[in-house]
Amino acid sequence: MGKNKVIIIGGGASGIMAAITAARLGQKVILLERKDRIGKKILATGNGRCNISNRFIEERRFHSDSLNLYNQIYPQFDLNKTLEFFEELGIPILELEEGKLYPYSLQAASVLNVLLYELERQKVQVLCNEDVIRVETGQRVVVHTKKNKYYGDYVILACGGKSTPDLGSNGSGFQIAKDLGMKLIEPYPSLIQLESDYAYLKHLKGTKVMAKVALVVDEIPVKSVYGELLFTDYGLSGPPILDISRAAAHAIKTHKKNIEIHGDLVPLLDRAALDQMLLKRIDRMSYKVLEDFFVGLLPKQMIIPLIKDCGMNPRDKGAQITSKQREMIVNWLKALRLSITGTRQWNQSQVTAGGVDCHEVDGTTLTCVKHPKIILCGEILDMDGDCGGFNLQWAWSSGYVAGVSAGKE
Ligand SMILES: Cc1cc2nc3c(=O)[nH]c(=O)nc-3n(C[C@H](O)[C@H](O)[C@H](O)COP(=O)(O)OP(=O)(O)OC[C@H]3O[C@@H](n4cnc5c(N)ncnc54)[C@H](O)[C@@H]3O)c2cc1C
Repeated sequence: MGKNKVIIIGGGASGIMAAITAARLGQKVILLERKDRIGKKILATGNGRCNISNRFIEERRFHSDSLNLYNQIYPQFDLNKTLEFFEELGIPILELEEGKLYPYSLQAASVLNVLLYELERQKVQVLCNEDVIRVETGQRVVVHTKKNKYYGDYVILACGGKSTPDLGSNGSGFQIAKDLGMKLIEPYPSLIQLESDYAYLKHLKGTKVMAKVALVVDEIPVKSVYGELLFTDYGLSGPPILDISRAAAHAIKTHKKNIEIHGDLVPLLDRAALDQMLLKRIDRMSYKVLEDFFVGLLPKQMIIPLIKDCGMNPRDKGAQITSKQREMIVNWLKALRLSITGTRQWNQSQVTAGGVDCHEVDGTTLTCVKHPKIILCGEILDMDGDCGGFNLQWAWSSGYVAGVSAGKE
């Protein structure tokens, strides 16, 4: 293999992986980054611990209009190769809950540090504060930044999506791809908190409860997840909400009107057992006012919303709960309906759903079909994963394939 000049646009996980791979294959690599340093997002991953991948990588954890691309790319640099790559660089892996894999140090900074070291060792030229605005194709490829022009044999677009623009990916990669004639699947935020107009949010703010959370669109159940639900003043957060958020954001994007979260706030009790428990409590605590009656069963902040939604008075006594009200209480606890009005903004989202249509790239090399000197990888493509290390795995796998493609004659 000879010395191609490879220009990589974007110093995130996928661009860094592409740069190391192409350089190891003997190419001369320049990495252009719009921020003042590369890898800012890596530092923020996994709450600063970097959930590098997941033991259980499976197709169903990825989402795209063209999932076939995942099936062609992932096997070329799968989990084993990823772990080997990081272990060679000095990162032993620690497995925590649900197969989530982290650096043994539990520090994202150590992942970035070993990558920086390897970039230097492979003599990749990293140029920061270089905001790319346009790419021209021809005999050679010309990359225009706000300040300079760079000429190369191959360009890798690794600009990420639109999520958390403060960390660098501001959607400008989509514009560059669009200007080159590539089709976009309209991007929308994923792994993001949801907004609701539920009347008692201020009251519930900060309350956490282990719940089974279901997304229901136009009365049809779409997805259901168990986990710690967090109420906020704008709506809902917590791991189950992030898991459901892609489907909710898609429903919002496609203008569905009736989007609800149904929360089963006592998932360990079925309706009959809950009703029995209520009857027993009424028997034992008939003398208590309702404000005190539910203490011990529910977090305190939930008691007033429950009482009011069920048309009761906080000063009423346990003995006054009617059978109709008992039915309402069971309904409230087993299927609290919260209408969803939107998602939070891009700066809260962890990943971008949609992006450059995967049909724009060759399925095995990630080379742009219209421009054979341009290669795409990472989140800029219409491919995103669930929470839990799947998005970084896509960045590592696709970055590797892009680097190999740019390393070919
Ligand atoms: C807070 C947070 C936590 C996360 N935690 C995890 C986790 O633990 N595990 C996991 O798997 N995933 C996680 N993700 C998702 C994961 O980080 C991303 O999917 C992945 O980093 C995407 O890599 P990328 O290289 O494609 O894009 P990015 O990481 O977004 O990198 C793109 C780079 O390109 C640069 N750039 C963009 N446009 C231009 C331009 N025009 N010119 C020059 N440079 C440009 C950007 O500044 C950026 O450095 C998290 C995301 C966030 C926001």
